[in-house]
Amino acid sequence: MPFYPPAWVPELPHDPPDTITIADFILDEHYGRHPLGYSKAPFTCGVTGKEYSALDVKDRVDFLARGLAQELGWKVNEGSEYDKVIGVYSLNTIDTLTLAWATHRIGGIQSPANAAYSVPELAYQLKDSGAKCVFTCVPLLKATLEAAEKVGIPKNRVYMLEMAPESIGGAKSPAGFKTVDQLIAEGMKCDRLEHLDWKEGDGAKKTAFLCYSSGTSGLPKGVMIAHRNVIANVMQIKYYEKPWRDTKMPFGTQSEYTDTLLGLLPLSHIYGLVVVAHVGAYRGDGCIVLPKFDFQQYLKTIERFRIATLYIVPPIIILMTKSKAMMDKFDLSCVESIFTGAAPLGQETADELQAQYPKWQIRQGYGLTETSTVVCSTASTDIWFGSSGSLLPSVEARLVDFEGNEITGYDQPGELLVKAPSIVLGYLHNPAATKETFVDGYMRTGDEAVIRRCPHSGNEHIFIVDRIKELIKVKGMQVAPAELEAHLLTSPLVNDCAVIPVPDDKAGEVPKAFVVKSPGVGLEESDAVIKRKIAKHVEEHKAKHKWLAGGIEFIDVVPKSPSGKILRRLLRDKEKETRRKA
Ligand code: AMP
Repeated sequence: MPFYPPAWVPELPHDPPDTITIADFILDEHYGRHPLGYSKAPFTCGVTGKEYSALDVKDRVDFLARGLAQELGWKVNEGSEYDKVIGVYSLNTIDTLTLAWATHRIGGIQSPANAAYSVPELAYQLKDSGAKCVFTCVPLLKATLEAAEKVGIPKNRVYMLEMAPESIGGAKSPAGFKTVDQLIAEGMKCDRLEHLDWKEGDGAKKTAFLCYSSGTSGLPKGVMIAHRNVIANVMQIKYYEKPWRDTKMPFGTQSEYTDTLLGLLPLSHIYGLVVVAHVGAYRGDGCIVLPKFDFQQYLKTIERFRIATLYIVPPIIILMTKSKAMMDKFDLSCVESIFTGAAPLGQETADELQAQYPKWQIRQGYGLTETSTVVCSTASTDIWFGSSGSLLPSVEARLVDFEGNEITGYDQPGELLVKAPSIVLGYLHNPAATKETFVDGYMRTGDEAVIRRCPHSGNEHIFIVDRIKELIKVKGMQVAPAELEAHLLTSPLVNDCAVIPVPDDKAGEVPKAFVVKSPGVGLEESDAVIKRKIAKHVEEHKAKHKWLAGGIEFIDVVPKSPSGKILRRLLRDKEKETRRKA
């Protein structure tokens, strides 16, 4: 028997539409969005205050789509969406979603890459996704040009998402690269685009975003997120929150109420992309976009824009609890709720923050790139610290123990499997990983969970208690051990290796490498020197969050199963034991 959402969770009023693009769903009033004219500006720059109203965004999407179609020579109804992949490697801007929706309007795909990526990491994603062009911002232009050259994207297919110079240390857009504004200006001179001639069901089959995730094992893979998947998750979140948002409203009508949200999380990651940007825009909320995390600016922005809902990750909450003096300098009385996800929030941390700010609602959500984000979250009327809350509408969950037996009772750990209309299509170019992960309509999350019944509300809550899969999460960002291992093996110093997560006070987890030295290594140099060289080998090629902050330990042999699979569990247990004794 699967687990279902609690009885109080409203059903979706109708199935998430599968005939339209995300752009139609978000921008067209036919599909239940908050009326455009009564919405807050969907995107406002947190540094300059520059904003586009909802009606402006709708027009900009239309003109940008025309401009893109002309510039790239793409026809709306010709070719597959995989012929029209647009890479994005940028800090957050107020145009990032305008670009995504314009891309969807011409039947294309947006593939957003983490702005922290190194040149080889970006090149890997551009090549793997088949991106035909790439949009970037001034601080990342140099790296973009290098990566584009590596994968054969010509320089005239590199475009700019503009950022206010004051948000990037005064740097101005260099000449020679077309900007979104220029493409929009060109689009204004073009004829209207023909409509996409989608048939019933196409929205559930056609990919809208290719975000990268390593899933349960291996290298980062392109996750094929269909239009309907995002539409479904937006509807699921909206209707899950409806009961208590309704009660908050002055006149008791849902349409009156809009919120101001913090848009700090990267729009390249599914959490920022769907939960903040898409849900916010659909509900008519205003999202205050910040390009990067600077603690003081973050607090200043909350105060200046009177932000009510902070979407953040556990490391930011930890920093907030440890920085009372700084927090006290700002008027944060506007904050009503904090929503955290992407990595576990410890109960003690939640307790600590709540003691400082008793009025704030601290809510946690759980989800994955492969579920187009949230499958469960705490309701503001049913908060239980440590819990990731109850299931959203239309989600079914099962727990399976390590022998493959179904768990139907409470407090028994097992792998969490979920079924929902937001479950993605699979992994690009990787039928084997797709088959392994998506089984009979369920997605194997690779996370270990228990289900408990709340003694106060009587609702079933999901607690994520461990991670079975290989993934490491540093400040909420993915690090795939297989990727680091493959890279370490390219060093002549390394004969064999295995990478595991180790706990870290600030980042949640960081990678640690167990390394078997190559024969002869160490005869002339100390272990400390060799470790530094190995660490440098990672630092020179990988994004900072992938650096071996958990250290390097030399071992004689990497424990492996007879089939050659690394027995990470043994290394994790060994690490736990060493830390316990320390
Ligand atoms: P991503 O695809 O980058 O969003 O990573 C998804 C993974 O992040 C999940 O499979 C979990 O391992 C982890 N995760 C996300 N939310 C939570 C949460 N609330 N508690 C614990 N782990 C989480």
